[in-house]
Amino acid sequence: MSIKERYLQIEERIQKACIRSGRKREEVILLAASKTQPVEKILEAYECGIRYFGENRVQEGMEKIDMLKDYKDIHWHLIGGLQTNKAKYAVKYFEMIHSVDRQELVDELEKRASKLGKVQEGLIEVNFGEESKFGVREENLKTLFEYTLTKKHLKIVGLMAIPPYFENPEDVRPFFRKLRLLKEDLEKSFNVKLPHLSMGMSHDFEVAIEEGATIVRIGTALFGERR
Ligand SMILES: *Cc1c(COP(=O)(O)O)cnc(C)c1O
Repeated sequence: MSIKERYLQIEERIQKACIRSGRKREEVILLAASKTQPVEKILEAYECGIRYFGENRVQEGMEKIDMLKDYKDIHWHLIGGLQTNKAKYAVKYFEMIHSVDRQELVDELEKRASKLGKVQEGLIEVNFGEESKFGVREENLKTLFEYTLTKKHLKIVGLMAIPPYFENPEDVRPFFRKLRLLKEDLEKSFNVKLPHLSMGMSHDFEVAIEEGATIVRIGTALFGERR
């Protein structure tokens, strides 16, 4: 199947999930997880109308962003874990960083964004288990979020998670719901608006949308199996 054909199927499934859950299609961003994909494939997805791309590694992302610098309407997001020593480049290249997960990184992002005169958008990544080595534990989320509120050049706009893998996407639902509740709890506790929930991947994005996802990160369902 071509990227176009896969895209059309995904788009239809997103629309149906939106209808099932009484949401508007515009509330959900389809972000193509383009790690390991060459720029030719990214451009195929771009031709389908996709404008949000998520890279996992800063170095790989920078190379592609440089190669595609003429496509000014692409929104580049960093979705993989971020080492502190790469924060400088992440801030320079990416519109949103999905993997803010510790004070040290918050400090570095603030420092680098301040130097560039930029307000860096970020999501706090929550770790629900041992699936990912990244992410803040649920019990430390409030403290970390409160800490980010002291920063002028880092703006947290929501939460992200990579829940454990289950064969049956229904089994992931409690994790998506939990992330939404954590977001709502932060909004209440600190009297702020957090517009984004980045959750849902190729095999569970419909459930994620039903539970309130605003960004679904889709790789294999769009590009096919990674090399
Ligand atoms: C690779 C990746 C995805 C997409 O995964 P698929 O299962 O291929 O859709 C989403 N989020 C993150 C953080 C990833 O690394």
